[in-house]
Amino acid sequence: MAEDKKKYDLDTLRHSAAHLMAQAVKQLFPETLVTIGPVIEDGFYYDFERAQPFVPEDLEKIEARMRELAKTDLPIERKELPREEALAMFGGMGETFKTEIIEGIDSKDPISTYTQGEFTDLCRGPHVHSTGAIKSFKLLHTSAAYWRGDERNPILQRIYGTAWHNDKELKAYLLRLEEAKKRDHRKLGKELDLFSVTDEIGPGLILWHPKGARVRGLIEDFWKQEHYKHGYEMVYSPHAAKVDLWKTSGHMDFYKDNIFSPMDIEGKEYVMKPMNCPFHIQIFQSHLRSYRDLPLRFGEFGTVYRYERSGVLHGLLRVRGFTQDDAHLFCRPSQIQEEIAKVLDLILFILRAFGFSEYKVYLSTRPGKSVGSDGDWETATEALKYALEKTGLEYEVDPGEGVFYGPKIDIKIKDSLNRYWQVSTVQVDFNLPQRFDISYIEEDGQRHQPIMIHRALMGSLERFFGCLIEHYGGAFPLWLAPTQVILLPITDSQHPYVEEVAGQLAAAGIRVEKDLRNEKIGFKIREAQLQKIPFMVVLGDKEVESRTLAVRKRRSKETRTVDMDAFLGELTQEIRDKTLGND
Ligand SMILES: [Zn+2]
Ligand SMILES: [Zn+2]
Repeated sequence: MAEDKKKYDLDTLRHSAAHLMAQAVKQLFPETLVTIGPVIEDGFYYDFERAQPFVPEDLEKIEARMRELAKTDLPIERKELPREEALAMFGGMGETFKTEIIEGIDSKDPISTYTQGEFTDLCRGPHVHSTGAIKSFKLLHTSAAYWRGDERNPILQRIYGTAWHNDKELKAYLLRLEEAKKRDHRKLGKELDLFSVTDEIGPGLILWHPKGARVRGLIEDFWKQEHYKHGYEMVYSPHAAKVDLWKTSGHMDFYKDNIFSPMDIEGKEYVMKPMNCPFHIQIFQSHLRSYRDLPLRFGEFGTVYRYERSGVLHGLLRVRGFTQDDAHLFCRPSQIQEEIAKVLDLILFILRAFGFSEYKVYLSTRPGKSVGSDGDWETATEALKYALEKTGLEYEVDPGEGVFYGPKIDIKIKDSLNRYWQVSTVQVDFNLPQRFDISYIEEDGQRHQPIMIHRALMGSLERFFGCLIEHYGGAFPLWLAPTQVILLPITDSQHPYVEEVAGQLAAAGIRVEKDLRNEKIGFKIREAQLQKIPFMVVLGDKEVESRTLAVRKRRSKETRTVDMDAFLGELTQEIRDKTLGND
């Protein structure tokens, strides 16, 4: 059977590993009930019902038993049996979750099962032909989960694992996991003093510390500069508005569960804004608009508040208050293709500046329940396709996955650990222009309704920052680094020279820090490296005398002696290139 191994796809292999794990668990802990064991990205899990949670030693035992079972190369056999027979069989084994699954199956088709040795699982398949095909696997961790994800249901013990075609792939994956742990943005956020979340303020609400705020400010500056260049205007809008506005927009109906509860101000109800769109529409409506004014592009770092259950909050990635790099474009129907193509170009330009050059792109089309005419949907979907093809982006169509008010493009970026992050989205909207009854005067002298495009490029600054921290592993490229250069004098006697150098660098716009503590130079260097500061400049008597700088890059062991002009030239060049630096 071994030669068959190669032709199994990873999903089949991983799902078979889940069965193998269930078999091992039933042998070792016979009182455990089995539920389901699906494949997930890079691995699999299986949910078990058991009073005791599994501990790490249990996982070791289970994994060892899995290896024994794999070695015996048990054949895996598929059987089909009538529903009643399947019910009786799993009922007889006391596997109540399995009988519940069978009872939930609508069709009268026979039920398929897979058997390996004494273990039989209810399953659609496919599976590998024998347990010997499962060779390169590892159990990773456990968590609790509710049956069918519902907290009113019994709590289950979930075991996660991973399986690969060979040990080399498995090893590479485990290394990647290790690296991801080291790069966890919550861990680095603390170590590099970038941001925090406190109980006093409340979960999901982010405090940006000076160093995190530096990075955010640089991102915002770059973003604004490019948006002005591309014909956008910047606007600001308040963080709260009357409930009536959200009734007009429809959010009070279809988005109510995500909106913070209303507050009363002078007898009127207000809510924190969950979106920026209605504000930009109001700005559009503040004038009579002519076709000559269009397209109008309003951009804003708009902070929104959305209610998420505390259980799903996660660092900077799932929060309750976040800032969208939002913009709304108002255009004539004839301009929509060109506008979307420009939006995509801008998105790619900005994402590339952060080192993201591989994407997954999805075009979502009309869902079953939607507003707008067939003609509108067709025009908009064609415009999105046109823009995608013009930019040469490969994309997948997600049929019926559009928002009810229009089709959209979603872009995921691949980070340095080959993980994908959903960031950009471009949506065409027929709904809000209608609800707010916005119009412009067309060439024919008549009132016409503009097309509205919503777009966010980074999605939210919080999430994007979390992604960047992990992508760079906290070692921000020079243009983004909160501190670009740190000066490290060897003794007190170099302090006057340190001040002079610091002054010159700061005057040239370089973000410079000084470590004037009375510590050994080796210690100062190690700390600067832990802070991932791109350049360390060691200053001793030799440097003072020759008026030079001993420069060392954060990941290098080499020190070069240069003069101030050469150093500034190097810094300026690297900042301008936005390169990751070759340190
Ligand atoms: Zn299965
Ligand atoms: Zn919007």
